Amino acid sequence: MAAAEKALLAANWKMNPTDGGAALELVNAILPAASSNVDQVEVALFPPFPWLLGVAEVLGESGVKLGAQDCFWEMSGAYTGEVSPKMLEGWCQWVLVGHSERRAYLGETDAMVAKKVAAALSCETLSVIMCVGELDEHYVSGTGSEVVTTQVKAGLSSCSADDSARLVIAYEPVWAIGTGKSADPEHAYKTMRLIRRVVGETIGAGAARQVRVLYGGSVNAGNVQSYVELPLCDGCLIGGASLKADEFSEIVRVTGAVYGHR
Ligand code: PEP
Repeated sequence: MAAAEKALLAANWKMNPTDGGAALELVNAILPAASSNVDQVEVALFPPFPWLLGVAEVLGESGVKLGAQDCFWEMSGAYTGEVSPKMLEGWCQWVLVGHSERRAYLGETDAMVAKKVAAALSCETLSVIMCVGELDEHYVSGTGSEVVTTQVKAGLSSCSADDSARLVIAYEPVWAIGTGKSADPEHAYKTMRLIRRVVGETIGAGAARQVRVLYGGSVNAGNVQSYVELPLCDGCLIGGASLKADEFSEIVRVTGAVYGHR
């Protein structure tokens, strides 16, 4: 069984759109579908930092949630360019931590990810999506499970079982992100099962049941059903397809139909 009654669809816009007006157009185009099914599908949008405020205003009381794509591990101080979880509290409900693009291009380590997860969770109104996933070389050599196990254990090293209600782990095989090469649902299922087991070993069996686990990596309207219908999957983290209003709206519709039949 999935841990949650509702699916979570997290839309990671990455460093797009480059124009604030286009960001508002996108949220306005997505909103009807995203807000139509809030009892079955929780939609969270993760725009770039400069567009958060404008997107928040459009979302209003729609029930569609807002998230930031990253945060720092300190609450304030001499950290030029960083944004603290405290600054996000109040108008973001979600924060994404440890995305593979940050690990690859900005050198984020498991230890940095762990500090960010702990800092974000110390803000009681924020929930966290921590991303984990193996590189292509690990997948090919059959060492992906060890990589994911290490990332989950390290990322949760400062967490307790009480945190699990506000914690989501996104399994995102790096070779599937932005490549159009989505993971075989069977592989995704096995890794999501592993993630729950590692959560159980790290912060307890109750947390393993309560934590939500997502799949991410080239999800689109044509394949989303094969992930959201997996027993241990609580939803998807979506990059490229979340920038196309029609496609993302269809992803919400398909997911709502799967959860509506449970
Ligand atoms: C992502 O950005 O986390 C992601 C999964 O991207 P895409 O859906 O484009 O593969």
